[in-house]
Amino acid sequence: MSFENIVGNNKVKAFLEQSVKENHILHSYLFSGIEGIGKTLFAREFARQLLCLEKEENENCLSCQKYYSHNHPDFYEIEPENNTIKIEQIRQMQEKILEKPITSKRKVYLIIDSDTMTKEAQNCLLKTLEEPPEYATIVLTTSNESKLLNTIKSRCMKISFEPIETLKIQEYLKKQMQIEPSLEWIKRSEGSIGKAIKLQEKKEIYEKVNELLENIEKQDKIATLKQAEVLYEQKENIQDILEYINVFLYNTKEKQKWNCIPYVEQTKKRLLASSNYDMCIDYLVMNMWEEMNEKYSRSSI
Ligand SMILES: [Zn+2]
Repeated sequence: MSFENIVGNNKVKAFLEQSVKENHILHSYLFSGIEGIGKTLFAREFARQLLCLEKEENENCLSCQKYYSHNHPDFYEIEPENNTIKIEQIRQMQEKILEKPITSKRKVYLIIDSDTMTKEAQNCLLKTLEEPPEYATIVLTTSNESKLLNTIKSRCMKISFEPIETLKIQEYLKKQMQIEPSLEWIKRSEGSIGKAIKLQEKKEIYEKVNELLENIEKQDKIATLKQAEVLYEQKENIQDILEYINVFLYNTKEKQKWNCIPYVEQTKKRLLASSNYDMCIDYLVMNMWEEMNEKYSRSSI
């Protein structure tokens, strides 16, 4: 593995490689960008290079051997447990980080989805970011920067990840997964390979959602509700589907469809506040129908 094998974000690649080569390494980085864009892959490869004991990638490198066998004593990943990173996880890290590295000259910590840290966890991490041991590098990843305390952000060097070009995603899917979805389809993944793969895996579901969205202005309420069954059935995937509906509506560049976006946003919030699921979907479908069939809405049903 090297950065060469990761798609997109060439500027980030060049910068990280240069930093390793020149040995200009900081204590903390924040990798920021939308979900599914390769931030964690980049962070892991950066970590491997930081820990590596050789100048070039080399089979005999003890550090890389340990790294690839997921057995590197100087490399740690902290991930959300039940959707949050808790203060206990940060405290454990803080105890460990004081122990000197064993195999490599450095220790590297990745905090994946760092925005899921509780406020307490973030405040606790601050102490380490303020005074890290000289051998330590901490990489935080986030797709929701606004949830991080400013005091955390100001202590990290921010590396911004850009969406990946549609053509590059298509090329990747063709090479790695032997599938070739249309460019129109890939555009709905907003430049995220992770999302493109999800869309592909759940193609049947998303095709039904498409059908609903394409027909909503051509049919009556009852037919629309029938076609909306896919939304009622997909409780587990609903947040992803709502995100998808937003992208679909936005890409149409039609005023009536844009007017539906606030209803989707409202539905997301209602669902997170654990309102009655079916009622939330009723609200969404009925309001979208009325918005798109405005001229009929007063007279029918
Ligand atoms: Zn190595």
